[in-house]
Formats: sequence, C-alpha cells, structure tokens
Amino acid sequence: MTLQDIRKRRTKIVATLGPASSSPEVIGELLDSGVNIFRLNFSHGSHEQHSQNARIVRELADNRKRHVGLLGDLQGPKIRIGDLQTDEKQLIPDQTLILTTDENTADSIKDRVYVTYKPLPKSVYSGDTLLLDDGLIRLAVTEVRDQDVECRVVQAGILKSRKGINRLGGGLSAAAITEKDLADLQVIISLNLEYVAVSFPSCAEDLLPVRDALAKANCGAKIIAKIERAEAVATEERLKSLIDAADGVMVARGDLGVEIGDAQLIGMQKKIIQLSRKANKPVITATQMMESMINHPVPTRAEVFDVANAVLDGTDAVMLSGETASGKYPAKVVKAMAETALGAEQHPSMRQSSYRVDRIFDSMDESIAMAAMYAANHLNDISAIVCLTESGTTPLLASRLSSMLPIYGISRHLSTCCRMALYRGVIPLYFDMMKVEDIWAEAMKLIAMRGSLEPGKRVVITCGDMQGEGGSTNTLKILQYKPGQ
Ligand code: PGA
Ligand code: MN
Repeated sequence: MTLQDIRKRRTKIVATLGPASSSPEVIGELLDSGVNIFRLNFSHGSHEQHSQNARIVRELADNRKRHVGLLGDLQGPKIRIGDLQTDEKQLIPDQTLILTTDENTADSIKDRVYVTYKPLPKSVYSGDTLLLDDGLIRLAVTEVRDQDVECRVVQAGILKSRKGINRLGGGLSAAAITEKDLADLQVIISLNLEYVAVSFPSCAEDLLPVRDALAKANCGAKIIAKIERAEAVATEERLKSLIDAADGVMVARGDLGVEIGDAQLIGMQKKIIQLSRKANKPVITATQMMESMINHPVPTRAEVFDVANAVLDGTDAVMLSGETASGKYPAKVVKAMAETALGAEQHPSMRQSSYRVDRIFDSMDESIAMAAMYAANHLNDISAIVCLTESGTTPLLASRLSSMLPIYGISRHLSTCCRMALYRGVIPLYFDMMKVEDIWAEAMKLIAMRGSLEPGKRVVITCGDMQGEGGSTNTLKILQYKPGQ
C-alpha cells in the first residue's frame, strides 16, 4: 500500500501488538498496510516487551517518514479467573461450577475455579448472570457461601486461564485504578506514548488518579476513557461527564456488550460516537471487528458491515485486538479493514454536515475551525484544509465535521504529529514553520510535495499569530497555489 493510498482513507486503524506482531518484520508490514495507532495492551506482556515494541514502532515509522501514535492500554480492575491447572476446561451445560476466592480449596479439575477478586461473593447474589470470556460462557448464580459462588452453567464452552468475568447489568465494581495500573503508567510515561487508555472508569472522577500522575510527571499523554461499564452509561448525564473529563473515548464493546447486552449495545455505540464528536473528542470503536480473521484470511460479510457501520456512525478509528495481537493474518486484517473503511467513506452521508449552525462556540479555535470547514466545503476548487498547529487542537476541531477534503495538520512538534494520527480525516505533517519567512507559501509547497496539491488549486489555511503558543488560532486564509512565485 502506498502512502497516498493510506492517506486517502479518513478512518484510522488502531492495531494491538502481541505475540503475533512483535517482530520488526510484522510491525513493518502493519505500518505498510496502514496502521495509524499501535496499542500496547498492559493486560498482557511484560514491561520489557512493551518497551521493545514501542522502540520498534518509532524506529520503523521514522524510517518510513510516517507519523503513527502509540496507545498504552491499562488493564484496570478487570475481574478475572485465575490460572487453571490445565490449559483449558470444557464446561458442560447445567453442570455446577464454583467460583471461589479461597486459593487453598480451589481446584479447577474439581470444578472449583479460583477468582482473584476477593469481594466477589459479597458482590453477587443468587439469580445473577455472570458472563465469562466476553460473554462466550454464561453462568447463573445459584448460591453464595462464604468464599464460594456456586453457579449453574447456562451456556457452556471452553474456559481458559485468566478470562474476564462480568455481571449482566454491571455492578462488579473495584477501584478504578489499581497498583499495577500506576506502575504500568510509569512505563507509559517513560516511553512517551501519545495516549493512555483507562479501563473500566464508571464516572469522571475515576480518571483523576491518571490525570494527576501524568501532570506530576509533566507528561503530555492524552487520556482515552474506555466506556465498558454499565454504570458509565447508566444515564446520559453520567456518560457525558465522563466523555468531557477524557481527551478521547473508546467504545469498548467487549466488556460493555456483556454488561448491557448486545441489543442495547447497538444504539449505545451510535450514542457514544455522537456524544464524543459533539464534545470534540476523538473516538475509537473496538473489539471483535474482524474477529474471524484471527484464523481465516478473509473477513465475513457481517464483519465488513460492522466495520463499515462504525465508519458511518462517525468513529475516528476502528480497532483490532486479537486479530493483530495473536491472529494468523495481522497484515491481511489491516488491509481488509482499510479497504472496508475506504468503501464506507464513499457513502453520500459522509459528505453532509450541519456545521453546528445552532451552536455558540466557546473558543476562537473552534470558531475558526468551523469557518474553515464551511469555506472549504462550499467553494469550488478547494483541494485541502491546512491547519498550522502547535497542539493539534484546530485539526481535531475541524475533523469533527464531515468533509471529503483532506485536513493537513502541520506541526513543528513530533508529538503533536503522532497524536493527530488518531483524528479522522487528518493527515499529520511535520514542518518547522518558525524557520521560514512566508509560512503560507511554504505550507502550500509542503502539501504539494508531501501530500497532494495541483497548481492553480486553492487551500483553506488556519493559523495563529504567535506560533509559539498553543490554542491561539485566529486566522483563516484562502490561497491559490502558484508554484514558483
Ligand atoms: P479490552 O478492552 O480489550 O482491554 O478488554 C476493549 C473492550 O472491552 O472492548
Ligand atoms: Mn475491556
């Protein structure tokens, strides 16, 4: 896939690294297939492995002059079963299975499976439904005794070590940030990752420990709130305040789906994406997007449509988990996803925008960004929107509106370039505007050279007066590209 092909796609691709994708060869293939953000999943793997993967990504992206971002995903208080004595355990319908927090009496062979979460027996009641392994296995709680939760297997399957447990309806709550998360966060800080994902926040306050730790370390990493708890979406107000408190959002369908049920998830995905865009936050749609490609070289049509529908819902990015982390076809699945996204982006609805005509903006940046999109989409001969940016804010705001035109985010900060890799429709370019006299002419030259701009065509450019300060975009110009003048 050429760089031009990769840039034609507006929807970004997040790929999780894992055992199937930790060699320079595979990471290189993933980059060339069009991955925009690499996810390091701290639920698995060692600090050394994550550090090494981050180094490989940076180096290979640099060689290719690509700006890709890195996302460190904290495990959070996921409730899991412990290690089984055997690799896997076949459950039979209607059999009794005991989840126990007593390590001494646990024996998975004798149907007593250890659960690391000590408060479990106090948090569940007879009649509750527990879902294991993202809903693959379903248990009905029949009795709770001391440290034991006795269940009947309603939907059988093969149980494996360390699989997650959720309760239908939510309510299995543990503190949002664990000791492990705080230790992992230090690694994320030292590796200078662009994004850190907080798992299982149930409200805005749950993000605070991470926000504080980042501030203390003077780290610019942006926080992605994973929406995956029934509590987080219990009311629209709660969901909105969580989105407002974050810098970005993930529709974490794996856990959210099992907590609220798939039927509710359908509308919830659309709602989360819509609220995130409205709140000017980038949003990632995650989990089981092309799951069958873990074992097969082509996606099912249903998967193609799932990815396409997320694109039509307005997501910034679509995410791959097991497909790239442990699947057989890491590069193929990225290509299949890229093709699907490109196809979905051809739909006429992707060009329509309401321009927020009924909104009052509270920042100059937003006002300029909206004006730029309106001007660009309504004037003939415009080839691109170009934002000269310190923090990436203006391109992010511009990219909240639909358009078929590329939005170039030009920054003299590499970290801003890598962060912008997540924003839908935004092409990051690195250039130090401080060093040139005529920034307008130079910006157009850069687009013509590194992107695409024909002589005689026009661009809409935004910038601020003081290039040294973020958040000061106050200028909008429409210029015609006349090379050599
Ligand atoms: P996970 O998060 O892969 O860390 O569980 C995503 C999800 O729950 O969908
Ligand atoms: Mn999850």
